[in-house]
Amino acid sequence: MAGGANEQAADVVVLGAGIVGVSAAYAIRERGLSVILVDRRPPGEETSHGNAGILSSGSILPLNKPSLFKTLPSYLTNQSAALRWNPFWTIRNVDWVLRFLANAVDARVKPRAAALHGLIGASLKLHRDWIARAGVSERIRETGWLKVWRSEAVAAARAEHDFLADYGIKSELLDRQAISALEPNIVPSYAVGLLHSQTASVDSPGNVTKAYARMVAGSGGLLRQSDIKALVTDGDGWRVVLGDGVIRARHVVVALGPWSPDILKPLGYKVPMAFERGYHQEFTPNPARKLQRPIHDAEGSFVMTPMENGIRVTSGVELTDRDAPSNVAQLTQVVPLARAVAEFGEAVAAPWRGARPTLPDSLPMIGPAPRHSGLWFAFGHQHIGFTTGPATGAAVAAMIAQDRPSFDASAFSPSRYL
Ligand SMILES: Cc1cc2nc3c(=O)[nH]c(=O)nc-3n(C[C@H](O)[C@H](O)[C@H](O)COP(=O)(O)OP(=O)(O)OC[C@H]3O[C@@H](n4cnc5c(N)ncnc54)[C@H](O)[C@@H]3O)c2cc1C
Repeated sequence: MAGGANEQAADVVVLGAGIVGVSAAYAIRERGLSVILVDRRPPGEETSHGNAGILSSGSILPLNKPSLFKTLPSYLTNQSAALRWNPFWTIRNVDWVLRFLANAVDARVKPRAAALHGLIGASLKLHRDWIARAGVSERIRETGWLKVWRSEAVAAARAEHDFLADYGIKSELLDRQAISALEPNIVPSYAVGLLHSQTASVDSPGNVTKAYARMVAGSGGLLRQSDIKALVTDGDGWRVVLGDGVIRARHVVVALGPWSPDILKPLGYKVPMAFERGYHQEFTPNPARKLQRPIHDAEGSFVMTPMENGIRVTSGVELTDRDAPSNVAQLTQVVPLARAVAEFGEAVAAPWRGARPTLPDSLPMIGPAPRHSGLWFAFGHQHIGFTTGPATGAAVAAMIAQDRPSFDASAFSPSRYL
């Protein structure tokens, strides 16, 4: 590495210190390359902070699946807790909507599930390894993820169970009694459950991301807090223009989550990304009525998760512009439902808002930029970016080192859209 405070150089500069960028920086250091990780905020304070903390073994079937067409009519009135949509956004983004729906057909289920299964499997191994290496093992809970239905939705639960079993992913079908045995502190409102038993969760995804960032620093990587303004080609490498200086590097990894399209537009890449916005709010837990794991109320359209600072209730999807003003209607709708089944006190903070970055096929972009050497894409992880960050980072590091990722990353190639 060379240069003064305002001008630096490295083999690789990673843009964005969410879970994806932090993971990429760490994996790049593990391969012996010098790295600078840049973010305008401290690591893990945006989308990677506010998620439900689920390390999901079973999220191999994206939201755009055939059953979406059955639920679409229930979204038309725009009152659903599962999905709200801004009509003006929808008109402006009709192309993305149609492409998203075109992927929700039978023929597109298995290829995407197989691709995500490879990515998720590789990532869960890394999370379990890194969380121990980072010295924060107490943050991971191997208690699974419980999906529950109020109605007798045995067929839906069994279909999901069987689908996962085809990929060797274990889950357990539960009746009301079995749910109560697992979660004695919730009201027995749920008739059917499915325990994703190989899924883990963490009590603070933001702090886990920060712990991985400390590993980056501990292994000799540099962290720089600065606003990224532009990305400019520079000989056979790159110049990253920051608010307070410049970094030169042979390789650049774009891991800016929902902000990734902005930096790539001037280079001629029109990334077809939508923002599935979501909210959370945390509430004081009752220590005598603890939850053991994240619980997903499938019909109520919320997840409630025991976190370091309280019970975190997360909302469904809001399709609108990334930076449009917040609308907490979905959160307001689901918090009373959560309160009716779990005991918790007052809100510990104001609602948080984030944006799940989603491409029309719900697969991330992981790989080389189609028209620029030394430019690597690592974004678009929709609902499962916290789970899949480590393997995404490791795959990009492998590609930069001209090695093969540990899973088949061909389905994630950026050239499928650009
Ligand atoms: C409500 C909700 C619940 C979720 N639950 C889960 C879950 O349980 N499990 C799961 O696996 N996933 C979950 N997700 C998805 C997951 O949170 C995301 O996919 C993931 O965090 C994306 O990580 P990232 O590193 O790509 O982006 P981010 O974490 O957003 O990181 C991008 C970084 O880029 C930085 N940045 C952007 N622009 C600039 C700039 N110009 N200059 C400098 N820095 C910049 C930002 O500050 C940020 O730190 C959930 C998401 C939401 C919204």
